Amino acid sequence: MKARRRKYSLREGISRRLGVRWVASDAPEVEMYTCAKCSKTYRLQNSLYKHQQFDCGKEPRFSCPHCPFKTKRKENLRGHVLTRHFPLQELM
Ligand SMILES: [Zn+2]
Ligand SMILES: [Zn+2]
Repeated sequence: MKARRRKYSLREGISRRLGVRWVASDAPEVEMYTCAKCSKTYRLQNSLYKHQQFDCGKEPRFSCPHCPFKTKRKENLRGHVLTRHFPLQELM
C-alpha cells in the first residue's frame, strides 16, 4: 500500500518537472518569457535561456529506441522513455 502511493507521487513529480501536463492556454496570467526567434514562451527566464542555448534552431539529437520520438534534450528523452515505455515499478 505504502509503496504504491509513493510510486504515484513520483509519477506526479516527474510529469510536473517535465512540464508535460502544463498547457499554456490553461495557465493563469503570469509573466512569460518569449523566445524572439521562434515565439516559444516560458515561465522561467532560465528555461528560455536554456531553450535558446540548446533547443532553438537545433536539430533533435536524441531519439527514442522504442518509438520514433525525437528530442533535443537528453532529459526530455529520459522523461519520455520513463513515462511512455516503462511502468514505474521497473524504476524501483
Ligand atoms: Zn526559440
Ligand atoms: Zn518512445
